Amino acid sequence: MKLQMVDLLTQYDSIKNEIDTAVLDVIRSGQYILGKEVKELEENIAKYLGSEYAVGCASGTDALQIAMMALNIGPGDEVITTAFTFVATAETIALLGAKPVYVDIRETDYNIDPSKIESAITDKTKAIIPVHLYGHPAPMDEIMEIAKKHNIAVIEDTAQAIGAEYNGTKVGTFGPFGCISFFPSKNLGAFGDGGMITTDDETLARKARMITNHGSSERYKHSEIGVNSRLDTIQAAILLVKLKYLDTWNDNRRQAASRYSDLLKGLPVTTPGELRGSYHIYHQYTLRCEQRDALSNHLKEKNIPHAIYYPIPLHLQEAYTYLGYSKGDLPVTEKLTDEVLSLPMHSELTGEQQQFITNTITEFYNGTN
Ligand SMILES: *Cc1c(COP(=O)(O)O)cnc(C)c1O
Repeated sequence: MKLQMVDLLTQYDSIKNEIDTAVLDVIRSGQYILGKEVKELEENIAKYLGSEYAVGCASGTDALQIAMMALNIGPGDEVITTAFTFVATAETIALLGAKPVYVDIRETDYNIDPSKIESAITDKTKAIIPVHLYGHPAPMDEIMEIAKKHNIAVIEDTAQAIGAEYNGTKVGTFGPFGCISFFPSKNLGAFGDGGMITTDDETLARKARMITNHGSSERYKHSEIGVNSRLDTIQAAILLVKLKYLDTWNDNRRQAASRYSDLLKGLPVTTPGELRGSYHIYHQYTLRCEQRDALSNHLKEKNIPHAIYYPIPLHLQEAYTYLGYSKGDLPVTEKLTDEVLSLPMHSELTGEQQQFITNTITEFYNGTN
């Protein structure tokens, strides 16, 4: 059986005519940078999420960097986030000369633990970046309350969670900024890199837009130090087509997740849950399991794709040793790093494929226990 973590080609085949037409239209228009499809996508994403403004940029990583630049975050500042995430979250903080301050996660949803945030706040703290990891919303009520109390900005890393909801509200709309990634394997993926910044604040939206385009709102007049980070028109045209299917695809993922959890009942694994008030969009279906590395080897032998997100937490990464963290500083993060394993998850996953995958897992535990 041919299996993949993410099946991008089967998804493309299902909407091939629409995508091909959209791409060819852009090629024939000659408007490859900031063409009309970029503006249209910004409007549609803002409407989809329920935010006032959306600004396209070149990647989710850039979205995080630009959001922080718009908030004047730089040397001497501290930004609170999680170490159980993709490196981009902390990398952009560090690149701007600010200091990533890591807060441990909670076991219930693998997201930043709100009860541990306040003790990490200092007079240098400028922002909190919660990550809606694997597509499960972070506890936004608690985070927003702490942020308000201490007058700190919240930048939501929504890279893995477009369409996820917290108490009926789409994530990416709680703080001053939400940051989306359109990396191909994300739930709304382009055919290359892409990203978007969302906000309800007109001034911040204008500033973020200027930063994406060399700090300029008028040609050759530069009122901010900016970057070159725009969303390609071709990518916007593809995303406009795909956005129409996002809810259906997210629903397919939710059904696949529930099938996995049924099939894995009784095994020594913890299947991912959905906390009350949360709408999980299963960017990843991630288990916590006993004998994780042995299971991983068994799956490898049987050619079952799977992944460890993430094998080394950010506070223990070589490039970040200058921050002074060591093993034992974030016990929950470190424990989960040794236990998590993500199974194939995408909008085209079939019950038959899932049966095959879970049979292999069952065989592993029954054979060795
Ligand atoms: C993918 C991802 C990013 C970065 O997005 P890119 O578009 O690849 O730059 C940032 N944060 C998280 C949590 C991600 O998963």
